[in-house]
Amino acid sequence: MKVLVTGGAGFIGSAVVRQAIAAGHEVVNLDALTYAACIENVASVADNPLYIFEHADIRDRAALERIFAKHQPDAVMHLAAESHVDRSIDGPGAFIETNITGTYNMLEEARAYWVSQGHSESFRFHHISTDEVFGSLPDDPAVKFTETTPYDPRSPYSASKAASDHLVRAWHETYGLPVVLSNCSNNYGPYHFPEKLVPVIILNALAGKPLPIYGNGSNIRDWLYVEDHADALLTVLSNGEIGRSYNIGGENERSNLDLVQTLCAILDELRPANRPYAELITYVADRPGHDARYAIDPSRIRDELGWRPSVTVEEGLRRTVQWYLDNEEWWRALQDRAGVGERLGVSA
Ligand code: NAD
Repeated sequence: MKVLVTGGAGFIGSAVVRQAIAAGHEVVNLDALTYAACIENVASVADNPLYIFEHADIRDRAALERIFAKHQPDAVMHLAAESHVDRSIDGPGAFIETNITGTYNMLEEARAYWVSQGHSESFRFHHISTDEVFGSLPDDPAVKFTETTPYDPRSPYSASKAASDHLVRAWHETYGLPVVLSNCSNNYGPYHFPEKLVPVIILNALAGKPLPIYGNGSNIRDWLYVEDHADALLTVLSNGEIGRSYNIGGENERSNLDLVQTLCAILDELRPANRPYAELITYVADRPGHDARYAIDPSRIRDELGWRPSVTVEEGLRRTVQWYLDNEEWWRALQDRAGVGERLGVSA
């Protein structure tokens, strides 16, 4: 299968590209190489004959038309997005343009291509989204996000992703475009851009800097190892039912404070310092509109597609810490990028 992956130089997209190539698929990686991209993430497959890179922006319809015509993909996995909630608070415009208008452009160019191919039944447009579209859950383990939970996005980021989900469903209902959707919980793992919580904590700890916890650290997230997410995405692409969405979660709910304490304990073991890393934990002003809890009910993807995460959060975090210890050159190069290392998203 030839798959057009958008956002394949980012964190999750690059894991998808690496796994898709390993599975024998041809991959066209379409990426604008924004501040969040790192083409080194796909260095291991760059010379593989199954891999092609297209430097293009999903806001550019003409470029998308050219890429569909040139590469004739069997499927699209659409991951390109502005992805950082804190940046969406300071500058929502880019999120509207890329996440909403960019997805609209992808849908229109995919539709034109699909029509030109005689409405191929095997074509797929897989839209990759987030559980943040569902809003915030109460602190009750019995209540989780299912695929029928009403949408209630509360940040500019999640609102833009919710809008893109609605467009994808509308293109299926209205035009018959063969789509599948997935909404996933928080990812972590190798190649995570150093503005997100897990790498910020690891890299600040290694530098002896404060480990910032928003608010009181009680916000709960359902953590998923990125390689497990990529595996789930390829499963949904191959076996998901047209028009259906799948929630993907790690079955690993942790408060932010618990997560940071776990990271500190792993660092104490793998890179001991003269005092416990947890002593660096510092509480900072909360994010405006910070959702209290996300948790995924993964019954559908487990029961219908037979997919489950392969690692616990403790094992995944250990692998992640080891990866950052082994790949200093990768993260050092990204620390000079605009906004990295700064507190963002407090302008509200
Ligand atoms: P990321 O920020 O690491 O990567 C995004 C990639 O998209 C970058 O390579 C960037 O250059 C590219 N991109 C951005 N704007 C573009 C444009 N206009 N045209 C072409 N390329 C563009 O993001 P990520 O964390 O890998 O997330 C990937 C997708 O998964 C996003 O759609 C996100 O909403 C979704 N998602 C992320 C998480 C998570 O925990 N990170 C969880 C669930 C869903």
